Amino acid sequence: MQQTKCDLIIKGSYILTQNDERELIEDGAIAVSGTTISAVGKSADIEAAWVADETVDCGKSVILPGLINSHTHVPMTLMRGVADDLPLLEWLHNYMFPIESGLTKDLVELGARLGCAEMIASGTTAIFDGYMYEDVVGKAVDETGIKAVLGEGFFKLPSPFFKTAQDAWGVIEALHNQFASHERIKTAITPHAVFTTDPDQLAESMELAERLDLLWQIHAAESVPETKLTLDTFGKRPIEILKEYGLLRERTRLHHCVDVTDEEISWIREAKAMIAHNPQSNLKLGSGICPLTKFIEAGVTTGLGTDGAASNNNLDMFDEMRTAAMLQKGFLQDPEAMPAQAVLDMATVSGADFLGFGDNGAIKAGMKADIIAINMDKMHLKPVYNPLSHVIYSAGGQDISLTVCDGQALYREGKFLTVDVETISREAEKAVEWALKRIENR
Ligand SMILES: [Zn+2]
Repeated sequence: MQQTKCDLIIKGSYILTQNDERELIEDGAIAVSGTTISAVGKSADIEAAWVADETVDCGKSVILPGLINSHTHVPMTLMRGVADDLPLLEWLHNYMFPIESGLTKDLVELGARLGCAEMIASGTTAIFDGYMYEDVVGKAVDETGIKAVLGEGFFKLPSPFFKTAQDAWGVIEALHNQFASHERIKTAITPHAVFTTDPDQLAESMELAERLDLLWQIHAAESVPETKLTLDTFGKRPIEILKEYGLLRERTRLHHCVDVTDEEISWIREAKAMIAHNPQSNLKLGSGICPLTKFIEAGVTTGLGTDGAASNNNLDMFDEMRTAAMLQKGFLQDPEAMPAQAVLDMATVSGADFLGFGDNGAIKAGMKADIIAINMDKMHLKPVYNPLSHVIYSAGGQDISLTVCDGQALYREGKFLTVDVETISREAEKAVEWALKRIENR
């Protein structure tokens, strides 16, 4: 048989393809050409049909699509552990905002590099980010090799970052232009939240999203105190405001949606807007529990996110998947709620829709080669009855042995191939003194 040439073949004991049939392939292999998957199947068949420049045999392993983190603020790794065990509004106003108002581009880039490294090593290949100075977050994303939707965040104006709306729209449009032709980076319009902006400004930012044809993301209905604050300020609940101003649209991406009514869920569904679920952040900040199964039953596409590392406190999507499964079971007193497959879907295929990366999230021919492998040769992953069960309930980010994004290996057997982790680690330690000073002087 004539063999076809490809760049890379990846082999392993199991492939969780996440294709339309959610097929599991035993003793499987993937042929990769350039940035794209050329073929998937049994190892014997793939190796008979394809000849590769390089073959990576992952041995006893589960191979699956790179995980997609639908909500994060990647530079917040620098604030990991600076303030814990506080209510959301106190945490934001007394700790996060005083630190963030003094951030420099260098610090944001450092935090982003640290976060990208952490995610690469724990199997995440794509993120939906929102923060300040996203041009340097983009630099970190570009150089470390993952993919991202980047959102330059803005608050009620004037803010420490933008004096006028014109300033903000100018920076956002420049960011969009900077990455317009980038293969792995897109941008999104990113107001922080209803209670930290104002409705007219939100409406104006949506016009910009329409003009540039970008996704529009916002923290929405994260907690009961947020709802109260929004009611006190505007006389309406957060999702009501979004509806009234015509901001629930197909391009709308809502983060959290914890304090929502059944009627609000139906508005979100009708608008074909999507939500990101962030269970660990919601638990840690005592924000409450998102009625996730109601959203999924309603047919709302739902991604999964870690939120920033200051409210989680890691960016490990395996940790997040396990929490997402457990939380709904306990909350609803129903062990059948959020089965493992539904949770993996959030972190792969649904996440790809959430980010607007339609050719991501599954291992099948024609899709982008975002591929990770879990080393199953570990005591806590033995024996194997069902690989999917181990992915959701037993494995952790530390079990990742291979991370490939767009066909490029970023991490392999404990080695970072695109990140200088020693320099990042050294510099990150230095940020502590700076952050503590910002809090002292607030
Ligand atoms: Zn957030």
